Amino acid sequence: MGAGQLTIDLGAVAANWAALDALSGEHVETAVVIKADAYGLAARKVGPHLTKAGARTFFVANVAEGHALRPLVGDDADIFVFSGHMDGDRGALESAGLIPLLNAPEQVTRHFSLLPGHPFGVQLDTGMNRLGMEAGDWNALSGELMVAGPRLVMSHLACADEPDHPMNMQQLNTFREMTDGIAHRRSLAATGGTLLGPEYHFEMTRPGIGLYGGLPFADATPAVRLDLPIIQTRIVRPFETVGYGNSWEAKVESCIATVAAGYADGLIRAMGPQALVFAGATPCPVVGRVSMDLITVDVTHLETVPDALTILGPHQGVDALADAAGTIGYEILTSLGARYERHYV
Ligand SMILES: *Cc1c(COP(=O)(O)O)cnc(C)c1O
Repeated sequence: MGAGQLTIDLGAVAANWAALDALSGEHVETAVVIKADAYGLAARKVGPHLTKAGARTFFVANVAEGHALRPLVGDDADIFVFSGHMDGDRGALESAGLIPLLNAPEQVTRHFSLLPGHPFGVQLDTGMNRLGMEAGDWNALSGELMVAGPRLVMSHLACADEPDHPMNMQQLNTFREMTDGIAHRRSLAATGGTLLGPEYHFEMTRPGIGLYGGLPFADATPAVRLDLPIIQTRIVRPFETVGYGNSWEAKVESCIATVAAGYADGLIRAMGPQALVFAGATPCPVVGRVSMDLITVDVTHLETVPDALTILGPHQGVDALADAAGTIGYEILTSLGARYERHYV
């Protein structure tokens, strides 16, 4: 067992999908955001599993992800593409039956001329200023778009992880002003928006991070566990140092364990001085710098040193580890490396 052991709990992902689905009304569909290879957990596992659990609508970042997803979720699933219809996307949109979320007049023109009659959705900008059609363009084009019949009209919230942020209500009002009265399905909420309450749900919610066990879904069931084998232990005497740059110096005689994962495996180098790993329930501090393939850990206080230490598990989830690195759970998940031995349960 020379490699880190990454255990991904597909049952937890399905339970999180069901729990988020239960937050919205009967008539509201809960879709699945599966971009970035299911936030690093593998679309080829998550896609079929959630399809079996009843999910029928998926969102990906671009047509390449959608093309790869199609055989995994069957021909009946809707696959929406956030980047819309880019130059060169026509073949993949057509062959894999993907639905682009058109975000600008040029995309509307491209789509209607290259793939007339092919399904599409519309992505509106309600203030985030990242992706989506501006109000002026929407006003000019909505007549034509409504006649053609979008499969979905959606927008995205910038501050939904902060429930009291005034931006939420402001974007909700803007979305309603732009779309109230249309005869087509609407979606505004990702994970954060789903938690904000029913006025944010419309006909479809589209959570991502909450499915995979991350904040802002505080009640999520954790979906990942990462155990790192100890390759070597050694006794370090006072004034000896550990790792690159001599950044940690022993104050007392210490037992240091070297474990098999580093920043090349997604254990972000910046987490070095704050991070913990666990021996069962006992925290052990990371000492010295995180290197490419290795981390050094102070295990002096353990009665027996185990074969492996746990860096993601019941005592430290993705958001706690993210805090140590000054980042967010999303980045911890999408950074999980290719060298781990993966186990899907
Ligand atoms: C990534 C993304 C989502 C999912 O967001 P989470 O915060 O992971 O739930 C939904 N909609 C859009 C437009 C996105 O880019």
